[in-house]
Amino acid sequence: DGVITISNVKKLFNTKSGTLTAVDDVNLQINEGEIFGVIGYSGAGKSTLIRMLNGLESPTSGMVDVNGKVISNSKGSDLRRARQKISMIFQHFNLLWSRTVRENISFPLEIAGVGKRERDKRVDELIELVGLDGRGDAYPSQLSGGQKQRVGIARALANEPEVLLCDEATSALDPQTTDAILELLVDINKRMGLTIVLITHEMHVIRKICHRVAVMEEGRVVELGDVLDVFKQP
Ligand code: ADP
Ligand code: ADP
Repeated sequence: DGVITISNVKKLFNTKSGTLTAVDDVNLQINEGEIFGVIGYSGAGKSTLIRMLNGLESPTSGMVDVNGKVISNSKGSDLRRARQKISMIFQHFNLLWSRTVRENISFPLEIAGVGKRERDKRVDELIELVGLDGRGDAYPSQLSGGQKQRVGIARALANEPEVLLCDEATSALDPQTTDAILELLVDINKRMGLTIVLITHEMHVIRKICHRVAVMEEGRVVELGDVLDVFKQP
């Protein structure tokens, strides 16, 4: 589970100055339990690519398959079913600012129809897992950036996903906080065996936690392999 297949995926955008190719014929297979990084400069197509993995964008052509379910061009209840086991965390955390830490983490469980008693139990476990003990009743505005991302991670894990997508998840954080969050992601990957796909413009992030990496330039994957091979030190 948690296997991702990206086949001949292209994404074009129509802009005022013509058609722009954001993702240009990408083929990737991401394995179960792997921490897979996509690195590239701004505008390389990373964000568009990762958004196609959970149906936030649809490819213009090609196919995205996660856990044997086709994500690309699915809609409505088909898409909801296909993305049930896929979660995402974001650069700016995307928390609900008028709700507490507990309420933020509980939110996906409420949507999934999980009963109150079970929700409370899950939220307690998640708060402990991400190291937010004692902060459950705080509001996001009372938390540091690293703590906000811990809430984002706990919320993303609430429905026991098989795939966690990370969209520049440490780019708004200072280096020390970045390292702590990356260590948490490694810990979660080991404990739960879930597949992690992250996009970043920072080499350090890739080197620290990824098993394999794809380098993107102008919508294309220009290098792919084990991190140690792709970023060999001279
Ligand atoms: P990255 O995440 O690597 O910075 P993006 O995927 O955000 O790259 O963007 C790739 C290219 O697609 C850029 O040229 C960007 O301007 C363009 N792009 C992204 N989203 C849209 C959109 N919704 N409409 C038009 N162009 C877009
Ligand atoms: P970052 O969290 O990376 O500093 P954001 O733009 O996400 O950048 O948020 C900056 C701050 O503004 C947050 O810490 C939060 O307190 C506040 N904030 C962001 N979005 C909202 C919102 N929709 N409603 C209320 N406050 C918000």
